[in-house]
Amino acid sequence: MNNIIDRRMSKQVQVDKIRIGGDAPIVVQAMTNTDTADADATVRQIMDLASAGAEMVRITVNNDEAAAKVAIIRDRLDQKNIDIPLVGDFHFNGHRLLSTYSDCAQALSKYRINPGNVGKGAKRDEQFCRMIEIACKFNKPVRIGVNWGSLDPALMARMMDENAKFPQPKTAAEVMRESLIVSALENAARAVEIGLPANKIVLSAKVSSVQDLIAVYSQLAQRCEYPLHLGLTEAGMGSKGIVASSVALGVLLQQGIGDTIRISLTPEPNGDRTKEAVVAQQILQSLGLRTFTPTVIACPGCGRTTSTFFQELASQIETYLRTQTPVWRRTFPGVEEMHVAVMGCVVNGPGESKLANIGISLPGSGEHPSAPVYIDGVRALTLKGDSIAESFKQLVDAYVAS
Ligand code: SF4
Repeated sequence: MNNIIDRRMSKQVQVDKIRIGGDAPIVVQAMTNTDTADADATVRQIMDLASAGAEMVRITVNNDEAAAKVAIIRDRLDQKNIDIPLVGDFHFNGHRLLSTYSDCAQALSKYRINPGNVGKGAKRDEQFCRMIEIACKFNKPVRIGVNWGSLDPALMARMMDENAKFPQPKTAAEVMRESLIVSALENAARAVEIGLPANKIVLSAKVSSVQDLIAVYSQLAQRCEYPLHLGLTEAGMGSKGIVASSVALGVLLQQGIGDTIRISLTPEPNGDRTKEAVVAQQILQSLGLRTFTPTVIACPGCGRTTSTFFQELASQIETYLRTQTPVWRRTFPGVEEMHVAVMGCVVNGPGESKLANIGISLPGSGEHPSAPVYIDGVRALTLKGDSIAESFKQLVDAYVAS
């Protein structure tokens, strides 16, 4: 579908069945927030994320209890035919956990290593080496994921010292951005030196400010050929997190930068974790980079819509299409390209409905209580009465089947 955006070419990394970079579609990732030691809850959430559209799921592997459950989680997913790749997120003790739990090292499809949280002093290189050696031994790709919040302090100090020697030193923010990039590149080079093939490395350099993220990734993209994982870290809650992530990633993706994305939303307490996968899909689909579900065109409604029926129908249809698409796709490939219009009145209703594959124009206030349905641009029939919603769903089903 992408004929507008020229993607930056990168080396391609294979992560089980998923390809990242090169000419591969941009991959949607998500991360669990369950305690990985609670295998039941983690398997449930991975399945929910997969159903919502995540193509790769990261789980934290933060202690012995978690590491001991990783292979069990993988087995349970395999038993349910969920072949989604699992990425292990390691900090501080990854070298020890990967060395101790070889079934965990084997069961994971990819390791995420944060170079800022690997260790201090001489231990740092030794522990980083250990993790890379294990990745080589088990033939696993690695994401070297640096983060503004956990930048290697020794590297930062070195960069500050070097900067102070310049006649026109950079600002502290510029040094920090450069330090992130250097940390990602130097650690990737070290991994290659240890023996990890370059086509097993993905990079990320996450920050929480939109402008900094755009600046960092724009430079990183020019300075290497590794595939890049994009994400605005700690994007925040609710609409703020969604908007900030969409703006930041939208700018980068439009420039062809980014091979895999994750939207880091803070869920409400007991909130729905799957939203991050849905938002990631919507960003890619909005840019025309991928198509996951049929597009619903719905007007915002206004004083001409006097009941909540219009909003309810639009929401029902949107949910119905999203949940049905994976089922439909098996029999009707290309169904995700479909456009469905649900419009609030005759002002724009007939026009938008005619442009969609199938559309309905609901009666606004004072209009005749009937809802014309347009199929392939032609007024096909009129729905009336209490069963408009159900009848329209049946028409959508019939359209897909035809
Ligand atoms: Fe309002 Fe009708 Fe426009 Fe919808 S189509 S926003 S109901 S005027």
